[in-house]
Amino acid sequence: MYEKTIKFIKELYGNQEFTPLSVPKFVGNEKKYLYECIDTTFVSSVGKFVDRFENDMAAYTGAKKTVVCVSGTNALHMAMMLVGAERDDEVLTQALTFIATCNAISYIGAHPVFIDVDKSTMGLSPDALKAWLEKNAEIRNRQCYNKHTGHRVKACVPMHTFGHPVRIEEIAAVCAEYYIELVEDAAESIGSKYKGIHTGLFGKVGALSFNGNKTITTGGGGMLLFMDEELGALAKHLTTQAKVPHRWEFRHDHIGYNYRMPNINAALGCAQLEHLDEFIADKRATAAAYADYFKNVDDIDIFTEPADSFSNYWLNAVILKDRDAQQAFLQETNDNGVMTRPIWELMNRLPMFENCEHDSLENTLWFADRVVNIPSSVRL
Ligand SMILES: *Cc1c(COP(=O)(O)O)cnc(C)c1O
Repeated sequence: MYEKTIKFIKELYGNQEFTPLSVPKFVGNEKKYLYECIDTTFVSSVGKFVDRFENDMAAYTGAKKTVVCVSGTNALHMAMMLVGAERDDEVLTQALTFIATCNAISYIGAHPVFIDVDKSTMGLSPDALKAWLEKNAEIRNRQCYNKHTGHRVKACVPMHTFGHPVRIEEIAAVCAEYYIELVEDAAESIGSKYKGIHTGLFGKVGALSFNGNKTITTGGGGMLLFMDEELGALAKHLTTQAKVPHRWEFRHDHIGYNYRMPNINAALGCAQLEHLDEFIADKRATAAAYADYFKNVDDIDIFTEPADSFSNYWLNAVILKDRDAQQAFLQETNDNGVMTRPIWELMNRLPMFENCEHDSLENTLWFADRVVNIPSSVRL
């Protein structure tokens, strides 16, 4: 039933026997920088690539301060702590996201609350956010509380799904009105911009991921983005065991974390970053080729970047006409060497989060039955 589409995707990727969803590309200085780490013995928590990667990423994104971490998940964990989220707080986020967002919220003992997404972005909807708050929130002493549960509503974590920016300015305005801290899960959206500003810079903290399937990789890794330099400095301190700087003494002034990215991973990151713009241009060309192709296919649409945005098109997503079509498409593509996968199982359907509060999730449920990710690796 989908032979033509399978043929098109295979051709796009040079007719390999197996076409993966998203694999890394190494075309530059990766080996050179890695050898340099080994030759100089600086492979671990100290070394010039750590500082260089942070500086290069600050220049690239426009952040005032960046802090590398071991993973995107622990960048998000740190972000939750930095905005002061605590046990039994509520944190507003999406049911349509990768598990890491909710894991990070859970590490501090807070409770995720699932707000619907927009049809235009696949990310948290400022309208749904406002509607939920109008129904449930009350403000006391410049803090937001859920008047039905009594819990404080401390933070909001929108996620830029597949690299497509959410309506982040409007979300930021709603959060400000309700004294809610904004943390962006920008794990998928490196290089993506909203009205010309890099995603991850609209709230107090943004988190990126450099996992192997992301647009650029450090093997494993993540990064915190800040416009507030002081908060960034605190993050650096806490992610490096909260050690008081001294040439030989070992003193620590806080419970710290060993979340610092090793130099070998940062070396890989420096090399990858040198090609990020090329990778994104390539991904956008792939997205354009898909858009062109699917224009003439009945019953399959391709998701395109929202208004006011520049998307990195990390993963392309097609929208089938219903759940049966989604399942048939998954079966036929995977049976024929084209790797595809459905959007993540919704968070509110997982045993850990099935009792969490949520709104109608109307658009979320609509996407869950229809979205399939198709091969999106850099082609170059
Ligand atoms: C990849 C990803 C993360 C972070 O994942 P790590 O593997 O820990 O780097 C967080 N949130 C989302 C939405 C992601 O896709």
